[in-house]
Amino acid sequence: MNAPFVSPIKELLDDLHARLTDRRDGEVATYIPELGKADPEWLGLAVATLDGTLYEAGDTDVPFTIQSVSKPFVYALALQDRGLEDVLKCVGVEPTGDAFNAVRLEPVSGRPYNPMVNSGAIVTSTLVGGANQEERRGRILSGLSAFAGRALEVDGKVLSSESATGDRNRALAYLMHGAGVLTCPVEDALALYFEQCAALVTTRDLAVMTATLAGGGVNPLTGETVVSVEAAANALTVMATCGTYDYAGEWLVRAGLPAKSGVSGGLIAALPSQLGLGAFSPRLDARGNSVRAVAACEELSTRFGLHLMRPS
Ligand code: GLU
Repeated sequence: MNAPFVSPIKELLDDLHARLTDRRDGEVATYIPELGKADPEWLGLAVATLDGTLYEAGDTDVPFTIQSVSKPFVYALALQDRGLEDVLKCVGVEPTGDAFNAVRLEPVSGRPYNPMVNSGAIVTSTLVGGANQEERRGRILSGLSAFAGRALEVDGKVLSSESATGDRNRALAYLMHGAGVLTCPVEDALALYFEQCAALVTTRDLAVMTATLAGGGVNPLTGETVVSVEAAANALTVMATCGTYDYAGEWLVRAGLPAKSGVSGGLIAALPSQLGLGAFSPRLDARGNSVRAVAACEELSTRFGLHLMRPS
């Protein structure tokens, strides 16, 4: 009797999961106190292809707060609602090579350099469509949910924990308000940003959300058009140059895919027109990227020859 067919993607995810379980370097983020409660052993790996097939290994059902992995999705929503030119007036697209929470703005304009660092993401949250704060809150959560293909919820404990301790983001928001780049009240902008970061997702959600960007804004499970092809492509482009903090250049050389990481241990990577990859494990390296998630994505890209700059 023939052995049942197992997809090479599933085989590699299982193999990576088994091998990476032994890696214990890195530290769980604690600067948002509630994040420090994560189990450091969690490891989830998921791939969603554009035909809606899911491949998973490990803890792909564990909910965690999305943190900075929300940034490209909310950027895509802002592009959808405002258009690129209006968004560019408020947030640039230049890589900084800085850490995610760097206190640095463009010298003359006072604009944040890009939407993948905190300063840029705080402004971007205020640019999504909505006549008032409540409508913008609703737009962000329903938009993130449309990317995931299911209704997402917010982790109230992580939200309160970050609101109570987020003075660095508060300082950034005041600087941008002073420069006239952030035009709404500082606390409104922070409330939107902190809430988007506290949205609960699973590794499986991350794969589906990323496949939605890779598929030109169409969710491969629901068939819903969440954002336009242009908005999705521009979000992927900024992920490619700015998505993994001050590791973005080396990441692109090694993995060759647009990606975004977050301090709860999530990492996404997209192969346009093909698939979305989600990975999650809470221990972070010195630059704030998940040790195991980076290792998994880099190996997956190498083994399947996914590097966008290399001829296939
Ligand atoms: N909410 C976090 C912060 O602003 C997100 C940081 C991240 O994931 O990079 O500090």
